[in-house]
Amino acid sequence: MSVAMQPDLSVGIDVGATKISLGVVDQAGAIVATAAIEPWQYPALEDNLAHLASTLEELLAPYDRGRFHDIGVGLPGTVDDARGLVVYTPNLRWIDLPLAGLLRDRTGLGVHLVQDTAAAAWGEFLFGAGRGLTNVVCATLGSGLACGVIINGQLYGGANHTAGEIGHLRIADPALICGCGANGCLEAGGSGLGLVKIVRRDIGRGAVTPLAALAPEALNAHAIFEAAHLGDPVALAAINEMIGYLAVGLSAIAVSLTPDALILSGGLSREHDLLLEPLIQQIRAVSYRTVTENVRIVPAALGPDAPLIGAAMLHRAPEYSGQSR
Ligand SMILES: [Zn+2]
Repeated sequence: MSVAMQPDLSVGIDVGATKISLGVVDQAGAIVATAAIEPWQYPALEDNLAHLASTLEELLAPYDRGRFHDIGVGLPGTVDDARGLVVYTPNLRWIDLPLAGLLRDRTGLGVHLVQDTAAAAWGEFLFGAGRGLTNVVCATLGSGLACGVIINGQLYGGANHTAGEIGHLRIADPALICGCGANGCLEAGGSGLGLVKIVRRDIGRGAVTPLAALAPEALNAHAIFEAAHLGDPVALAAINEMIGYLAVGLSAIAVSLTPDALILSGGLSREHDLLLEPLIQQIRAVSYRTVTENVRIVPAALGPDAPLIGAAMLHRAPEYSGQSR
């Protein structure tokens, strides 16, 4: 007598601006197989999507399909999981793209879409710095800025799955223009792209720095941190300004929710001495005592794999992803 197979593996896809990572993940959160593609390898969008689908098929080929839970896809933008749509990704310019249906047709598996920041928070909650806790906020400090929120052990989306989008709090210098079009959004000063905006503003005002000699596309957060490590005062001041904005914004969500832990994730969080440590100190310095007494502010534990692992584990957040509907 044959017994119906219970799913014991998950598939996560992390869509980034420069790389799409795919992984098969076991139920302990370990990645057991991976693949990656560059999202713009081909000139036409449909060719890139076909490449993504065929890479996914190759990754899954060695396994019986009955072993898999639904596929989870983490994306840097707005998604509508109920309709299977990538509504908008600013960096990739995917607009109303029916990604879930495309991958479902190619694999026969269910597909759920989630914001990458929420996926990262879910991964850190299940297997990383938030493991064993109940209420967690996980901030992704990268080219942009947003938080994923876990309340009472559940991934919290709020209306339209946009809970934790603190990047558009209007708390930065109004001279810094956000990608959303508004002046002074936190993300316009408190992110990798925001750091570049601060330095560009200062160069425009006559600041003297070796960064002014860089080609426009070479002036990025990495170059600014490199200059800061060499002691460039303009770079150091820009980083400190960014930390000031981040501290206010992260304090706002920490005071509002008083989570057990505020986890700092994302590429920028790996700048330990120049960013992570002073940021933790400043969040504490500007926060109400409910935060300083109760909230652990800690670095992420999963590193760059957090969104992939969290997306793969969406089947454990059925209320959030609509799988219980
Ligand atoms: Zn904005």
